[in-house]
Formats: sequence, structure tokens, C-alpha cells
Amino acid sequence: MNAAPAGGSWFEGADAPTRRDLDTCIHCGLCLMACPTYRTLKLEPDSPRGRIWLMRGLADGRIAPDVTLVAHLDRCLDCRACESVCPAGVPYGRMLEATRGQLEQRIRRATPVRALAGLVLSAVLPHRERVHAAADLLRLGQRGVLGAWLRGAGGRLLPLWARRGLASTPALLPRAGRSLARVEAALPPGARMVEDADGVTFMPAGEPRGRVALHETCLMEAMFSHTHREAVRLMVIAGLEVVAPRAATCCGALHAHSGRREEARALARRNVRAFSGTFDFVVSHSAGCGSALREFGDLLGGDADAGAFSAKVRDVSEVLAHFGLPPAPHVLSSPRDDAAPLRVAMHDPCHLAHAQRVREAPRRLLRALPGVEFLELPDSDWCCGSAGVYNLTHPGMADAQLAGKLDRIESVTPDVVIASNPGCLLHMQRGARERGSEVRIVHLLDVLGEAYPPPPAAASHT
Ligand code: SF4
Ligand code: SF4
Repeated sequence: MNAAPAGGSWFEGADAPTRRDLDTCIHCGLCLMACPTYRTLKLEPDSPRGRIWLMRGLADGRIAPDVTLVAHLDRCLDCRACESVCPAGVPYGRMLEATRGQLEQRIRRATPVRALAGLVLSAVLPHRERVHAAADLLRLGQRGVLGAWLRGAGGRLLPLWARRGLASTPALLPRAGRSLARVEAALPPGARMVEDADGVTFMPAGEPRGRVALHETCLMEAMFSHTHREAVRLMVIAGLEVVAPRAATCCGALHAHSGRREEARALARRNVRAFSGTFDFVVSHSAGCGSALREFGDLLGGDADAGAFSAKVRDVSEVLAHFGLPPAPHVLSSPRDDAAPLRVAMHDPCHLAHAQRVREAPRRLLRALPGVEFLELPDSDWCCGSAGVYNLTHPGMADAQLAGKLDRIESVTPDVVIASNPGCLLHMQRGARERGSEVRIVHLLDVLGEAYPPPPAAASHT
């Protein structure tokens, strides 16, 4: 840690949390029971109000960033549930990320999991080819003798965070199976795909009703390749021209959340340039990425191009609800009884509900599906505990949130739970598997896609 400031602030430079933001909190305490760490620990420094007080103390130089203070700030999931309930409009996420950026410059926290996360953030995620190379390696560890060994004796030699990481990873497809272009064979009649040096464009059968650009996210493309392709197929069914620019890159959400502000800015600038064409909307199908994309204007200090980009960002559910899908041709039903409806509950990912304020569009799409009985999940917008790499760095707190989420899911006995964020999917699917639960936890696009099935011969391409 650097020397204490001479009577001044522990924050410095234009990237520090602003005094105006820090002073927004009026100490009312309405956020306390919305906060997962406060609900679990009942400690004021692990509440939003307490953490804001700690940030103010750092800003004023009244307290130092010692191990205890940093632990309280690190324990925050950055779920932003506090923002949804705060009557004063505290921009908590902005303050926390700016504070983490300041702390990143002042203290060193060298643990193996942090070192590996840092390597992945700076050397892998910004490079699509390396993301796929990492997925190839992970796939090797899922198959054959090596896979069997890692699931047995070998796995027991790994540290807990590595075991959890492996246990959360879904069965990965070979590289060709992850390609977005595979969706071409499953497009509706008359629709087509055009590929050139700038990217891939999907044209609907008739005159397009709009032109949108899809932000291809690292995890969705590599780990949820089928869902990733369903985004394109469903938007084409809605009559949209969909462009996937090749120059797009990682959104930088995990970099920003962990205080790596300059890396997050560099990625934001690359994305703003990549999406400089004329589009009605820039579409994200990952709640965490969509939230980061919407905040590029802030992150880049009010840059006009970044602000214009962010203003166009929408979640895929908003775009599908806005343009509308035709009536679904397939009636969904319970996996146990064809004559019974499919019981669908929805988990609201934090960065969709709290950060992007998107709650209604996915519900509207689900309620419109024939054969679906929509169930409201109790506390559907409570964090599941995934929170980027938090579930690896803070497994105890992450699993406490996960247990609460799975208990609530069991209380409404759904067939399917929607969780439209890759981090939530990985964490909740692992938790459900370990409980022996049979509930399917999937992205909204997966259930929508089942109601609009491709021709049987093309089904393997989705
Ligand atoms: S609800 Fe808002 S104003 Fe009230 S204590 Fe929490 S952060 Fe501060
Ligand atoms: S972001 Fe979430 S965990 Fe952090 S203080 Fe707010 S409610 Fe609590």
C-alpha cells in the first residue's frame, strides 16, 4: 500500500468517484435489506450505506485502505440492487467501480485466483481467437481420459476455485460448432447470410423492418453457442436485418468491475469504432455485457460517439418485444405431460433488472408463447451470487445467495427457469445439478427458440 496522503484524499485524478456522487447518499437505510451481503452478514460495512461511508472516508483521507476496509468493498457483488430501491438515486455501481480503480493503483492483492483472473482479463478476453483457444483447452479437459481423471482423483488435487470453475463449465462444442455462421441453414425460407471482411449480415425474407447490430459476447459465443445463434434466428424471424461486426470485442464489464479502468476504456473505444455503422439498435443477449455497453458514455468521460453508441444499446428481449414476433407455430408443454402447460419462472439478472431496468420485455415475450404458464419467482431480482468471478473469489458468500435462489425456485416448482446472463446460467446450473434438481435453467432465447423451431433437417445447426 502507498504511504498515507498528507491530510488529503486517498483518491486522485479525474477517474476518482466524484464528490457529488459520494454525497448523494442520505443515510436513510432503505437499501439495507435489498443488499445480499447485508442480508447475510447483518454488518453495516457490508451494506450499501456502509460501503458508501467507507468510500467517503477514503475520499476525505479519514480512513486508510487497510485489509479490513478492502475486504468490505471486495465483498460487494456489484449487483446494484441498492440502486433499484434508493430514493436518492445513488449511482452506486459508478462509485464502486471508480473506487476499485483507485484501490487497484494503491494496493496489491496477489492470490492465485486473482492472478489467473487478471491474466484472462488482459490476455484472453480481448482476443476472440484466444477465447476459442481457451475453450478448446477446456474442452480437452472435459473429454476422454483427462476428463475422467479431472472429474475424479485429479480434480481433488485442484484448488476449490478451479474445481468450481470446471464444474460450472457446460459441455463445450468443437470450434466449428460454435460458429455463428452455422445458423444459416436454420434461417426461415427466403432469409440469407452474407459474409465479408467486415462481418456477417443476416437478411430476412422480405423488406427488413429494421437493422440491428449484435454484440457477440465472449462467453455466449464460446459456451452458449446454440443460444448465441438463436438470437440471430429469432431476430431474423422478427423481420430484422442483423449485422455481427467482426471488429467487435469484449465489452470490458469484468475489467471495469475489478478496477481495471484503462483496459475497460480501451475495449469500449474498440467497440464504439466497430459499431459505427447505421443501426436502429445495438443488441446484447448478455445482461452483464449489455449493462457495460450502456455505460460506455460514462466510462469514456462523456465522449459523444460513446454516448450515441450507448443510447442505442438494447437487450435482445427489448428488441424482440419492440418489433414483435409472429404468432409462435409450436405449442410448448410440460416435459412430464404433453397436455399440461410448460411452467416457466424468471430469474431477473442483476445487470438486466437493476442496471438496465429491463423487467417487462422478457415477461411479455414469455406470456405470449402458446402453452406457457408464467410463474413469478419470489424475490426474482435477488442476486444468484455469480457476479462475474465473484463466485470463484468469494465462494461462501456466492453459495449463500445461490442457496436462497434455488430454495425460491423449488417453492414454485417450475419446469424451466429463465436466466438471461451467462454468469447466472453457469452458477445456477451448477447449483441445481449439485442439488440433484431436474429444473432446466436456460436463457430466454432458448425457450423462445423452441416455440419457433427450425425445419427438422436444420435443427442441428441452431
Ligand atoms: S437507500 Fe440510498 S440514500 Fe438511503 S442509505 Fe441506501 S444508498 Fe444511501
Ligand atoms: S451492489 Fe449489491 S452487494 Fe453491493 S452494496 Fe449494492 S446491493 Fe449490496
